[in-house]
Amino acid sequence: MKITFLVPPPINAKIPERVAGCAYLLYYVPNIFLLSAAAVLEKAGFEVKYIETTIKKWDRGHFLSFLREDLSDVYCFYSVNLSQNTDLQALKDIREIRGDVPIIFFGPAPSDRPAEFVVDDYAYVVRGEPEYTMLELTKALEKNSALYGIKSVSFRKNGSILNNANREPIEDLDALPFPARHLLEERDVYYNPKLGKRPFTAVCTSRGCSYRCIYCVPSSLSFSRELEYKHHVGKKPPVRKRSPENIIEEFKLLKSQGYNAVNVQDDQFVWGEERTIKICEGIRDLDMVWGCSARSDHLTEPVVKAMAAAHCKFIDLGVESFNQEILDYVKKDIEVKKNEEAINLVKKYGISAKINIMFGASPLETMATIQKNREEVKRLKVDQVMYNIANPFPGTEFYKIAKESKLFVYGDYKPVNVAKEANIAYPHLGKTELENAVRRANFEFFLTPRFILKNIRRLGSLDSMKAMFRKLF
Ligand code: SF4
Repeated sequence: MKITFLVPPPINAKIPERVAGCAYLLYYVPNIFLLSAAAVLEKAGFEVKYIETTIKKWDRGHFLSFLREDLSDVYCFYSVNLSQNTDLQALKDIREIRGDVPIIFFGPAPSDRPAEFVVDDYAYVVRGEPEYTMLELTKALEKNSALYGIKSVSFRKNGSILNNANREPIEDLDALPFPARHLLEERDVYYNPKLGKRPFTAVCTSRGCSYRCIYCVPSSLSFSRELEYKHHVGKKPPVRKRSPENIIEEFKLLKSQGYNAVNVQDDQFVWGEERTIKICEGIRDLDMVWGCSARSDHLTEPVVKAMAAAHCKFIDLGVESFNQEILDYVKKDIEVKKNEEAINLVKKYGISAKINIMFGASPLETMATIQKNREEVKRLKVDQVMYNIANPFPGTEFYKIAKESKLFVYGDYKPVNVAKEANIAYPHLGKTELENAVRRANFEFFLTPRFILKNIRRLGSLDSMKAMFRKLF
């Protein structure tokens, strides 16, 4: 059976980014979550293709021509909130040209709202972690057998939508094959300016995060997993980690395939000193640059030292605010002091500390707390900072608060560029004030000759730098 994973042309000019899953695309990031499901299907003997029409710059006409020629038996779409309309338009195109060929949707949006994707008798939704559900579903479709016993599948039968029982999260991540990166048609298009080298790819060493920040939008895979588990058990699923041996094996394979740069796509990479040091020691001699996100309170000196020796080039730290009351309100469960210590520790070992600061995540935010953030960034000589305005994402606790407290300026969540535009306002801190504050803060940090000279090489070209400025100002 021929299975094709598709990224169709966007219905408006903006391309939804599907790995983080909550913004529009700035750089092409390989979707290793999709490629993990593809690898499981390939291993089972299916003929698998992956077509990212956005990279090929196909317009809709080109996409329709492709469908007229194509003979796939199943199409799959990894859907996030921002791609829902695009993916459902692609379903209509497929129906028009290819008739009742099966279409499978997976990812956070269909996991959250399967009924919106199961629009006919040949559309199916795989909820939560996709790998084994997708495998059982495609086998059943191939044999034309019943779907009732396949956990975490939603489908339509006799006019009703059936949501099969939830599947438990995958226990043994080492048992999964490595993502099918060979399906990527143009691997050099993927890039991470914080690493500055090609070929670039991503690796996922753990799934989930055990913390409880009210605004958190984890990676799209973690979000799918969380949504499915929460519907089932009412709380976040346990974090699952791959073994150091399995991770080192994947890095060695990537090295043998010519990759030079890796983003660790975990929500939080540093789970335990012993495990992290073991991974770092295992990849140190491969001379590949990499970066990750980590919580400050997991960054001990031996861990950071081992990461630096293993060529870690940046660590994304979710600092969010230098005000303790605000951190407590957003349930960050961390002390401001810890964040400061981590920034200094990371810099001490020559790793770039990239911090995120969010304005307006709490009613305790004022112009004074915003000003304090800017001063602390200067005082600590942070390498990179991204100032954003908090935007309550559906499915988060912050979203419920925003709805109840009527914080949304448009009445509900709207995808906006959070580096520029506010979706919320407080009686004492309006939309315009938040937008002016974030513009001023980004202006102050990014438009200094020191930053521009230091980063023009890292960003790869003047065009990349212009693209970044367009995003910010
Ligand atoms: S620590 Fe990071 S990944 Fe974990 S819940 Fe908080 S924001 Fe999300």
